[in-house]
Amino acid sequence: MIVKPILNEALCNGCGLCVTVCQCGGMVIVGSIIKRVDVADCRYCAECELVCPTGAIQCPFEIVIEESIDITFEE
Ligand code: SF4
Ligand code: SF4
Repeated sequence: MIVKPILNEALCNGCGLCVTVCQCGGMVIVGSIIKRVDVADCRYCAECELVCPTGAIQCPFEIVIEESIDITFEE
């Protein structure tokens, strides 16, 4: 399953901020309304959700940075 940002067209005011910050270039606005995200190159940065002033975008994923594991080899 491909996880991608969820768009709520009813809340979109067409400001274009999400398109400006999106690093994958896959956000598409048609007729001043956000229409879709082509997620082939989505980097899951969640910037689109952060900048959206109306709450029209939800990123249902969380980036987790795991602690590095210290591996010691015994001889
Ligand atoms: S999560 Fe990041 S890369 Fe993916 S659509 Fe949003 S702004 Fe673009
Ligand atoms: S930032 Fe939000 S309100 Fe602005 S175009 Fe994108 S989805 Fe619509």
